[in-house]
Amino acid sequence: MSSTNRTSTVLTIAGVTAVSGILAYALYFDYKRRNDVSFRKKLRKEKKKVVKTAAQAAPESAGSTIGHVSDDEIRVALEKVRAEEVPPTPQEKEVFFLSQVQMGEQLCVQGPAYQLPAAMCFYRGLRVYPSPVELLMIYQNTVPEPIFKIVMQMMNMDVSEPSSSTEHAEEGHLEMSEEETSPSRRGPPSETSSQEWDKVTDPDSQPAVSTRLLSFIFCHSILASSISVLVLINDAFFFVHVDRVSALQVKTRIEGYYNYFPPKAMNVSVKSIETRKADGSVVIKKILIANQDFKAGDEIYKEPPVVAVLDLDLEGKGTHCSYCLRHIDEGLAIKPDSDLLGSVYCSKDCQVKAKAQSQNILFGSEPPLPAEMIPDSVQESSEERTKAQKAFAESIKESGKSVPLLVARFVGRQVESELAKMASKSSEDADLKLSDGGDYTLNDHLERLRYLELSNTEDQTKHLREVLSAALPGLEQFITDERQAMLLGKMAYNAYGVCFAGGRDDKPASTERPEDAERSRTPYGTSRQIGSGLYVVSSYVQHSCEPSARPSFASGTSELHLIASRDLKAGDEITVAYVDVTQHEGESAVEARRRRRFELARGWRFACTCDRCAKEAEVSEVDDLPVKADESKVEQTVQRLDEQGGVVPGSVESTLNVD
Ligand SMILES: [Zn+2]
Ligand SMILES: [Zn+2]
Repeated sequence: MSSTNRTSTVLTIAGVTAVSGILAYALYFDYKRRNDVSFRKKLRKEKKKVVKTAAQAAPESAGSTIGHVSDDEIRVALEKVRAEEVPPTPQEKEVFFLSQVQMGEQLCVQGPAYQLPAAMCFYRGLRVYPSPVELLMIYQNTVPEPIFKIVMQMMNMDVSEPSSSTEHAEEGHLEMSEEETSPSRRGPPSETSSQEWDKVTDPDSQPAVSTRLLSFIFCHSILASSISVLVLINDAFFFVHVDRVSALQVKTRIEGYYNYFPPKAMNVSVKSIETRKADGSVVIKKILIANQDFKAGDEIYKEPPVVAVLDLDLEGKGTHCSYCLRHIDEGLAIKPDSDLLGSVYCSKDCQVKAKAQSQNILFGSEPPLPAEMIPDSVQESSEERTKAQKAFAESIKESGKSVPLLVARFVGRQVESELAKMASKSSEDADLKLSDGGDYTLNDHLERLRYLELSNTEDQTKHLREVLSAALPGLEQFITDERQAMLLGKMAYNAYGVCFAGGRDDKPASTERPEDAERSRTPYGTSRQIGSGLYVVSSYVQHSCEPSARPSFASGTSELHLIASRDLKAGDEITVAYVDVTQHEGESAVEARRRRRFELARGWRFACTCDRCAKEAEVSEVDDLPVKADESKVEQTVQRLDEQGGVVPGSVESTLNVD
């Protein structure tokens, strides 16, 4: 039988590479699915066959069913699987996994009566597989649909009905805490939904895509060894949190990161250095160094922003592009029909990109997914969506601050790109190349950046959550108060001010207390910028009052050009001035020093320790800075790794232990 040949091929490959067998298996499956037309056809054919037989064999049954398997039967099967011992060692797990998947594949083609046993095999595989979510996605594309649905239903039950009999803290098992999953439930499966299931398995009706099971990795945080996934099961979106990504994956991805990042073409690399706090404790900081020699005036690299926003006083004026921040000559702006922020664009291209990246989800009216992929039960009301967006836009305008909008656009960009993947559309994100391979997500890049701890961010969270929820119920679970505060803190610490030719002088003066005013990294002063943006590579550039480089926006857009301010040798640290470090007219050196140090302390919460500050320090001066040491932070996972030395680029001797 051909199907037997296929599985044996799989196992031969997995067997040959015994050590990385599981990964090889996954890669093999993925490769086959993408490249082998006949393999895909065969899968489709088998799927059709099974669905057809299932429908013929199964009479109309009351209650909830998948194909001809009832929920009760699935529940019993799940209890059985849960009660089984899980092999203890990785080697045994691998053998167990392969045998279960092989058996599952064989049962798949034996007809409808074997659907449940097949699903049980796949579910057993899922329990021991180191990266269950990735496996789910492989299953979704390879396992016949009715069987995949049973697997998903088992997972659903496993999550929502914790087992009374067994502890399931086995490594690799889907661990989802009650707290995280139960509030995600958007109503129990209803009578209607079971009819929906029937519709899918009825060969005479068009397959209803609306009940297709979808899952996607949403907030893929390898560093934190966890993944958040939005899963559409039956007719409800679930947000699940999966812990314990395989230690091997964590290790390779963490150690590999700084080999892939920044892209070689940018001529710089990240280096870890140890600095000391006032209390003597050691802090590991990451700095950016030059990979080659540069002459003063040379361009070191160019970097596009991940997200950028126009200053709020310019938004709605029609003078600058809301996407690329380019100046627009009078009368040439492209104005969308309606825009809650009054955004305009310099070109069709910018308008299209803005919409694809975040504008639609935040302020647009189109469904975030093709309509047929959204179940009827979660169709949003457009009225509600507009209302949520209006409230959100109002709060942004009222705050007058850039950071909340930067965060919203960042979240929007993540959501839009994940949803695009879900709808198998090509994402506009192709033009953002932050690493030389390695398959890192935006989240992987962001979570390594330093941040400032901010308070009182609840209001912003509420509005953004409502906007996401109105676009697609379930999405709002992505934004917790904690995550939002973290994102705001990252933008506040890392954003650069975009200034053209020395900057503008028509920006309304800030009415806030100096300690509350928003600041972005710019040697011209935040009051002269036209907007701000988050640049991942440039986020690693440290401040110096005697900087070796400066940001320039010479292309007239938000694209940052880093220009050497003096000759640099390969290995030299690259620094920029986060604030205006020039000595103003009528200002003494001591006064200038004091001014810039206050700016730095208020904006970035550190007391500058650069050579110039040391040189200019006067013995008599009482420096009444609001901060004494560096108060910026890194996420706990990053800190833990730093302490273990696991992130030294290319380190061979690294002894990172991930348990
Ligand atoms: Zn533009
Ligand atoms: Zn300094």
